[in-house]
Amino acid sequence: MAIVTSSKRSRYFAESSRYLPGGVNSPVRAFQGVGGDPVVVHRAEGAWLYDQDENGYMDLINSWGPMILGHAHPDVVEAVRTQAGKSFSYGTPTELELELAKLVVDGIPWIERIRMVNSGTEACMTAIRLARAHTGRPYFIKCRGCYHGHADPFLVEAGSGALTLGHPSSPGIPEETTRYTLVADYNDLQSMERWFEEFPESIAGVILEPVSGNMGCVPPHSSYLQAVQELCRTHGALFILDEVMTGFRLSWQGAANIYHLDPDLVCYGKIIGGGLPVGACAGKAHIMDLLAPAGPVYQAGTLSGNPLAMTAGLTTLRLLQLQPEIYDHLEQVGRTLETELLKRFAEKGQDVQVNRVGSMISLFFTDRPVGDLSSALTSDRQSFSRFFHHLLAAGIHLPPSAFESWFISRAIDESHIDQFLEAVRRF
Ligand SMILES: *Cc1c(COP(=O)(O)O)cnc(C)c1O
Repeated sequence: MAIVTSSKRSRYFAESSRYLPGGVNSPVRAFQGVGGDPVVVHRAEGAWLYDQDENGYMDLINSWGPMILGHAHPDVVEAVRTQAGKSFSYGTPTELELELAKLVVDGIPWIERIRMVNSGTEACMTAIRLARAHTGRPYFIKCRGCYHGHADPFLVEAGSGALTLGHPSSPGIPEETTRYTLVADYNDLQSMERWFEEFPESIAGVILEPVSGNMGCVPPHSSYLQAVQELCRTHGALFILDEVMTGFRLSWQGAANIYHLDPDLVCYGKIIGGGLPVGACAGKAHIMDLLAPAGPVYQAGTLSGNPLAMTAGLTTLRLLQLQPEIYDHLEQVGRTLETELLKRFAEKGQDVQVNRVGSMISLFFTDRPVGDLSSALTSDRQSFSRFFHHLLAAGIHLPPSAFESWFISRAIDESHIDQFLEAVRRF
């Protein structure tokens, strides 16, 4: 398989940088974390991304999560095509948004109401607004290295692209805006308890990724999440799970299901739109019904509940619900990748950590177990870049950052795994 010459990519990227800031519409796509110029994708199908010269790349980005079924799944394509002929957006209620809401509310016990928005960022903004309105308290706690979208109050020691580019806290945000954002360490209950001691009765809620995917994949220590939930209950604060990445991925009911949690509010995004722009804030009725027009908390969106997006999400979630064996497949592929990566690096005598929960997996080039941001940051970025470019040259596209989770899709099968393992063996 020929690999597109980097001079062609460079030409594209030089041109796009004159039109788009940094040449991209979302920072981590720019390869700044690994060097070089990004692959310009022309189309995708199943497990493969194709550039304009029809070079194929086995996809482990999967749009950063949404494409859990693989690209251009025929059922999803057909549903979107059919809806497109009925127009794209009405600005009035539709049956589709009710169907998607029913699917989620009836299928997930701790969800009683859901508000559709257009992105994970909006979902998290709405959750914090609701938590503050419900409790009448100003502060909230987030964890170092977790990412909850790019809204102002969250861009304090944030993960994902902010972390990859080395500015986890952004300029352009007045101190007053983040004054009520308290930062704790992931997997460190005490760092959260201290805030509750310092600001008793002033903390509206805790928001966290149940399995963090935005400083690389970092799973929770055993019973950590339950302890956080209990801490919130004790102090009358809301327990908010950001399941934008984990929702419908770690299980249909998300991480809350596998860790036996009962969150007050849950943020969704990524898979819930099946690759079209959808996010959602969901949770207990007495909190959710504070949202306008049921209640006084304002939140709105011209394209919220967009019928094309609802159709893509609905079809994707239904397929996942009807075929629970998909999750077994994702687990199996994940386990094989984990085992083989560990085996290969042990052979090479190189210290690495492989963190994985289901179909979220990360490789850290460090001898320290990675359980929070500071341990994640011990990962050697140059080694990751070399590994990344080695795989890219072998036609395998990882997320271009040492601090992102890889995402496995249903479309990845034996033959892709063999290709992956062969490339890893040659590293
Ligand atoms: C991707 C992500 C977001 C932001 O979602 P966008 O749709 O990019 O705004 C928020 N939280 C988590 C955990 C995410 O992974």
